[in-house]
Amino acid sequence: MSCQRIILFALHYSVAHIRYFISSVKSILHSESALVTNMAARPVVISGPSGSGKSTLLKILFGKFKNAFGFSVSHTSRSPRAGEENGVHYHFSTKEDMRREINEGRFVEHAEFSGNIYGTSKRAIKYVMDKKQICVLDLEEQGVRNIKETDLNALYIFIKPPSLEVLRQRLGGRGTETKESLEKRMDTAMSAIKFSEARGIYDIVIINDDLDKAYEELESFLLTEIPSLKNLQSQ
Ligand code: ADP
Ligand code: 5GP
Repeated sequence: MSCQRIILFALHYSVAHIRYFISSVKSILHSESALVTNMAARPVVISGPSGSGKSTLLKILFGKFKNAFGFSVSHTSRSPRAGEENGVHYHFSTKEDMRREINEGRFVEHAEFSGNIYGTSKRAIKYVMDKKQICVLDLEEQGVRNIKETDLNALYIFIKPPSLEVLRQRLGGRGTETKESLEKRMDTAMSAIKFSEARGIYDIVIINDDLDKAYEELESFLLTEIPSLKNLQSQ
């Protein structure tokens, strides 16, 4: 072999080695960041009276952090509202089917609310976790109590209306309630607010008076509690 060919061979060999080294480092870094993201991803439970603004705030959050969060799609026996999609907002079901599935052990938690059954299936949480997204659960008081008994190690956020009068106006203004269902929701709201005042239940209570301010508070809490979120903000 000529001297020139030996040098060319050595060069080719080293370039291949350098490439292999770079790709190994990249793959280690990638798997580590995925692991950190996954490990840091404590589920987030959002609770608050019906009409306090949970869905409104979550919509802004999910829009800003496009693939970071995954909503745990609950089951409910209530009828869909205008614009609500089966499998997106809820899995719309019947009381009979839900009771059967609850007895079969398919639910992590369930509760009766305003004459209907609501519940989180094991499958709904697994679906989000499998995608390595931060699981967000929208739950009423009993659901919060029940999830606290599990090993989910969630963050607990309470969205509070500025007053009961404002809550009544917002619920009415949403145009989703009958006179009777609005009254039922108002009754439950008082108990939910009282529950939120107990020590050690919620990690943060956000008063949703001004929407922008409430959203800022929500985002800043999540960025503090879930540091990996900083890298997941949409441009
Ligand atoms: P929840 O999901 O808690 O039941 P929604 O997000 O549906 O509540 O909010 C109830 C109604 O109040 C909606 O019509 C929404 O547009 C309105 N709303 C939410 N936050 C505010 C706010 N800060 N100021 C005024 N209206 C609001
Ligand atoms: P809405 O009928 O307004 O969508 O929801 C009514 C209440 O049910 C809200 O307080 C909401 O947080 C709660 N909720 C929604 N899904 C679930 C669930 O899977 N489990 C429990 N426990 N509550 C839920």
